[in-house]
Amino acid sequence: MIKRKKILITGQVQGVGFRPAVHAIATSLGLSGTVRNDTKGVTVELQGEQAKIAEFVVRVQSDPDKPPLAKIKSCRAVDVPVIADDGKFTIETSDSQGAPLSQVTADIATCRDCLAEMGDQEDFRHGYPFINCTNCGPRYSIVRRIPYDRPNTTMAVFEMCDKCAAEYTDVTNRRFHAQPVACAACGPKIRLTDSKGKTVEARTDEAIAETANLLLAGKIVAIKGIGGFHLAVDALNERAVARLRRRKKRDHKPFAMMADSVEKIKEHAMVSQSAEQLLNSPQSPIVLLPKRMNSPIAPSVAEGVDTYGFMLCYAPLHYLLFARDIEVLVMTSANISDEPLICKNELALERLADVADAFLMHDREIHRQVDDSTLHLIDDKPVLLRRARGYVPTPIFMEEESREDVFAAGADLKNTFCFARKNQLICSEHIGDLEDAEVYHHYIESIEHLRRLFEVEPKVMACDLHPGYLSTRRALSTPNVKVVQVQHHWAHIASVLVEHGLVGPVIGLVADGTGYGTDGAIWGCECMIASLEEFERFGHLDYYLLPGADKASKEAVRPALSLLKRAYGDKFALRKFDWLLERIEPDANKTQIIFEQLEKGVNCIETSSLGRVFDAVAALLGLGGYNHFDAQLPMAMEAIAAADVEDRYEIEMLSPPGEPRRFSLDETVRQIVADVQNHVDAGIISAKFHNTVSQAMLALASACRSETGLTVVALSGGVFCNRYLTNRLTKQLKQNGFSVLFNRNVPSNDGGISLGQAAIAVKLAPVQV
Ligand SMILES: [Zn+2]
Ligand SMILES: [Zn+2]
Repeated sequence: MIKRKKILITGQVQGVGFRPAVHAIATSLGLSGTVRNDTKGVTVELQGEQAKIAEFVVRVQSDPDKPPLAKIKSCRAVDVPVIADDGKFTIETSDSQGAPLSQVTADIATCRDCLAEMGDQEDFRHGYPFINCTNCGPRYSIVRRIPYDRPNTTMAVFEMCDKCAAEYTDVTNRRFHAQPVACAACGPKIRLTDSKGKTVEARTDEAIAETANLLLAGKIVAIKGIGGFHLAVDALNERAVARLRRRKKRDHKPFAMMADSVEKIKEHAMVSQSAEQLLNSPQSPIVLLPKRMNSPIAPSVAEGVDTYGFMLCYAPLHYLLFARDIEVLVMTSANISDEPLICKNELALERLADVADAFLMHDREIHRQVDDSTLHLIDDKPVLLRRARGYVPTPIFMEEESREDVFAAGADLKNTFCFARKNQLICSEHIGDLEDAEVYHHYIESIEHLRRLFEVEPKVMACDLHPGYLSTRRALSTPNVKVVQVQHHWAHIASVLVEHGLVGPVIGLVADGTGYGTDGAIWGCECMIASLEEFERFGHLDYYLLPGADKASKEAVRPALSLLKRAYGDKFALRKFDWLLERIEPDANKTQIIFEQLEKGVNCIETSSLGRVFDAVAALLGLGGYNHFDAQLPMAMEAIAAADVEDRYEIEMLSPPGEPRRFSLDETVRQIVADVQNHVDAGIISAKFHNTVSQAMLALASACRSETGLTVVALSGGVFCNRYLTNRLTKQLKQNGFSVLFNRNVPSNDGGISLGQAAIAVKLAPVQV
């Protein structure tokens, strides 16, 4: 029987080659009709045999017919009247039916088909470093404005040759409407320059060969990629890596590395099956992998951590370079200390002249700088630590549509921001720490760029409670918008809820460094009953004093002294602990001053920060006294934690009537000091301390369940980037009958705050406006 059906397909279905795929399936089944992008997704009208239409619906959602980058959220078919048509199937242009929802997709690693063509001597794109197709290549990083058409990208300056144009306009071709399509005759070109920008080699093959020679000779080369420049150096050459550290003014933070195959990575790190899938995914992120003993990787690539950050080649240029006998490269974002990633040629030459010995550049402009994304595995599931290239601007979908467009400002550290429009939450890429003036400037520009790209007109703004945050001050001073201030840790838990399509309430367990509390204290280790509409603080780590608030996140002596003083009370005498404090802060005068601050309560703030407790305990274990980069000390402590230790220290639960439950670590601190004094192995102490924190959080969750009957626990906060703690707590919670949710799609650190803020504002905005 002949039928006509209208099929609405939603999800990530635009800009991923969906319409040509629909065309291919429909014509192969002898169906007539149309396909078009519209504001909801893709709409297909099909006419023909009912059984064939049913077959279409199955095939369009399954491999191998479904385009590799498409993610289908729903596919609904309704009957419409049969019409007299010409029996053909046609693709309608997008602009005929209103502007599509989000046309801009993420930058995607080079696909297998393109790699095969690049390696094929007969192909006209043989050895071409910018080969791409509908299934791969740059997107978000090259778009200036919408609609996503070539003239609105940085490819506008390159006029397609006849061969490329023929593929671009052929609906059956893999490059149909692939905006960055190009070849050696018509597209971007590379060149190698010296450190002053003078071209030394402009021929593609020779420039790549010479770059490889420089790298193998231990030189530092700035290489322009998809989202910005990398600084590359031979990862097996200790002197070269050490020189890069000195020149980049990055003394300690681990460097990411790149290899051209998983097999190569396996020589240096343990790669589980899930990790292998992640490395090979179209997003091609950096994956943190347990180090292999005796790997020849230069020691200074990643000191004080037990993982290597590895990614596979993801741009054609990377593959061409690695084909020249390169083993493993350090590929670190090209910036100076914490400034934004450099993506413009002129700026690279200006800022990196003293860092790089040579530049491998190209003339395809990068419009948006996008860092590499970083993930690790928790409970063998991929979890994002930094969300950027490959993941942004893919929206996170909400069950309900937002009645107002919302802007969420995020947090000041590890900033991302987020827009809510209809049922989409669109998070920005990792922006950075807003206290840096360059980063703040980049933040302001990025907000405007994304706002235009997604045509959002926010009438509601969400921001943090912290009165000192630049992001908060900016939101509060914006005219004609409703501002919703969201407590930091509530936003953390809300980010987990919205990721899992829940509204709550759930038991929220937060393990974090710092977040401004509703009582003006700095919260950090929290148990809350939270939904997207409200939260209640159920319990927390008992407050301790933090002397010299803004310095306290770097200098471990500050929380260490405070926790010792609290644990020993009147018996605490500075001299008695000299032996311990000297290893944390060699300057005894400074320790004395901080001690006096604590005694008098001057310049001190009350806190339940768990991050600072980790700093202090790591310092007590002799792992250093200073965080040169975020969480350096806690990461060092996690790295040495002994396996198979079940012991823990004592905690004291305090349940004052009518107040939130609290737990105290005083006895824990005394027992740790005793263990240190008795020369117990630091790895054992580390494991026992992690186990103690896990136990305390389990106790809070259990108490909360007894009172509320809730059994779902959401974990969030920066300290949950600690794999030992998160794996252990997850296991313990599950053994005790809880369901456990954690962040997967956005980081559990402050990079996920904007998503939670946005979700809460979407819920509250209609009520408040
Ligand atoms: Zn491709
Ligand atoms: Zn061409």
